[in-house]
Amino acid sequence: MESKPKGPAPKHAAPKATAKKGPAPRGRGADGPRRNPPSKTVAPGAAAMALSSKFPPCEKCGKPGPVCICDRLEVMPSKVRVVILQHPQEEDVVLGTAKLVALSLEGAEIIRGITWSSLDDVLGVEGVDKTKWAVLAAAKLPEGAAKPAGPVMMVDRNGQVMSVGRHKLEGILVLDGTWSQAKTLWWRNAWLLKHPRIALTPREPGLYGRLREEPRRDWVSTLEAVADVLPALGDPESTRDQLRRLMRTMLQRARDAVNAGAAPKP
Ligand SMILES: [Zn+2]
Repeated sequence: MESKPKGPAPKHAAPKATAKKGPAPRGRGADGPRRNPPSKTVAPGAAAMALSSKFPPCEKCGKPGPVCICDRLEVMPSKVRVVILQHPQEEDVVLGTAKLVALSLEGAEIIRGITWSSLDDVLGVEGVDKTKWAVLAAAKLPEGAAKPAGPVMMVDRNGQVMSVGRHKLEGILVLDGTWSQAKTLWWRNAWLLKHPRIALTPREPGLYGRLREEPRRDWVSTLEAVADVLPALGDPESTRDQLRRLMRTMLQRARDAVNAGAAPKP
């Protein structure tokens, strides 16, 4: 038996021993065994997902009507270009954050897929300098990786620590999806290993809270990861604040819609 995390297990952190029952339901499939949990704990994510079947998606942000955050969008410049590689099965239209990032940052974009042959292939250009594009996995790197010295640590392809403050990065690649989907993206794209890598220790616990179940408690969303990384690479803290505010608004609107009965009660 492995040692337990300190303190009482938080309600929504899947204990290691049970984590192997596959990806957390995330409210999608209804065909798993019903466990009839008390109504309070029925995955709020499931109720949020139901919103997407009831309301057509906003043409711009893709969120169902009550969750649309377009009125709060602000387009901001960033020192590095953010390119999000999205696992095609990451279809969490209601609570996903990649779109929020792509709409908020100049030059940011989402590219869906599982396998590419190189960064050139991803960007559709030739001769991109590999050393100037770092990879960030929103899911924290698995245990066993070296303990980062600060919230954002960058290492080159040989594992040597690079100066985050004096980086000459042109862009960052962000792997978007659940923890296991991000892992899949890692091993289906061996060329990623030739790039510098950014390891993130999230500055705060994830904002999703009970709205979304994740197999790992230290998992943070793509938006939160990008929001933590950009100031370390030279962008103002206000960029982080605005991104996080946008996500909080989205989550609050999803909660309000669920509470208002816009989604079926369990
Ligand atoms: Zn919208």
